[in-house]
Amino acid sequence: MGARALILPGGESTTISKGLVRHELVKPIQEFAGAGGAILGTCAGAILLSRISRNHPVPTLGLIDVEAERNAYGTQLDSFVAPADKDCGDSWSGMDCVFIRAPRLSEPGPDVEVHVRVDGEPVLVREGRCWACTFHPELTDDLRVHEALLAC
Ligand code: GLN
Repeated sequence: MGARALILPGGESTTISKGLVRHELVKPIQEFAGAGGAILGTCAGAILLSRISRNHPVPTLGLIDVEAERNAYGTQLDSFVAPADKDCGDSWSGMDCVFIRAPRLSEPGPDVEVHVRVDGEPVLVREGRCWACTFHPELTDDLRVHEALLAC
């Protein structure tokens, strides 16, 4: 395997999903995960990793057993920054989470670990070596999400 980890970035999940199909990347990414590759999906990327998406659904890779509701917090203008809930444990304490037209994750399956919640809702989850993050960790100087990806 040539890469240790892969990031599916934020953006627009309809567009990214079409690109994955057009460039025949669905199976290679699923095989990368199946071979033990680490994957982080942020925002639109989190939608693409989920079991199913709702609210203008897109075909997903189905690598994390969770549902994603697109644009669940409103429009771009409703973007916000919020702190991780205080009971998320020491690893994530004090993390500021930047949400931009973010999805809401729900119904995590039994093999899904919820690492970070904001207002009680899961915003960083993990199944095996696949992580879904509904906020944008690349927009702060806090490297903990990326470090967790490389350490898992
Ligand atoms: N709302 C976008 C979507 O549904 C995701 C936004 C983002 O990645 N910041 O694809």
